[in-house]
Parts: sequence; structure tokens; C-alpha cells
Amino acid sequence: MKGLESLRGQGKRLTPQRRLVYAALQESPGHATADELCTSISRKVPGFQRTTVYRTLDLLVEQGLARKIQLAHASAYETIQDGNDSHQHLVCDQCGGTFDVSAPQVPMWVDQAAHALSFAVDRVDLVGHGVCAQCAAQP
Ligand SMILES: [Zn+2]
Ligand SMILES: [Zn+2]
Repeated sequence: MKGLESLRGQGKRLTPQRRLVYAALQESPGHATADELCTSISRKVPGFQRTTVYRTLDLLVEQGLARKIQLAHASAYETIQDGNDSHQHLVCDQCGGTFDVSAPQVPMWVDQAAHALSFAVDRVDLVGHGVCAQCAAQP
């Protein structure tokens, strides 16, 4: 079972703080940086610890509940829902924009390459860095 409840099965406590960070991540459209999550959470819960946000995000990634996407100067996060983790990301190094692209072949290619090492691939995070159309259009 995916979702926050699966933490319990891993012997991790489902604290209100962890619920809050997960909910904020789910509610944020697209991808959110830790800073953006801190801002939206502290609007609801003033004084919420930034370190709790960072630590919870690390935990969610470690437990396979969230994906971390490396941007040029920060990291963005998104929750992993059943069936939506086949997409990959394009990151604009100028504006930091993160774009989802459907690339169902990518995990297959990696899986084929990994086969030679008898390596079982669970997930593939591929990030294409470059310049988005909007930034490219700017003089
Ligand atoms: Zn851009
Ligand atoms: Zn995404």
C-alpha cells in the first residue's frame, strides 16, 4: 500500500508533523521545494520547524513516498502515487521550472542495461537539464 499509512508498516511513527508535511506536498501543484513547503506550512502553523520539513522530506524519499528532483540550486519534491511514477523531469537551469515528461521507455532501457549485472531496478529518476521555451524566448 502506498501513502503515508505505509510508514507504520516500516516501524516509523506517523506524527502530526509528518502528516502535515506530506499533506502540504500533496496539495502543492506539481513540484515543491523545501522552502516553498516551509512557507505554505508556516502559514497554517506559525513557527513550524524548518528542520522538521527537511527531515520529513528525507524520510518520505527514503520510504518511497516521495521523489526528489535535483534542480540547479535546490531540490524539488513530489509525492509518489500508484501509477504516476513513470514520468521523468526536465529542469530549466535558468528559471528553475520543473516539467513532467512522459518517458515510459526510460525505465525499460535502464532495466535492460541493469540486466547484465543482475541488478533489480525499482525506479529510475532521470533529469534533463537545459533551458525551457519561455527562457529561450527571452532576448
Ligand atoms: Zn526557464
Ligand atoms: Zn513530476
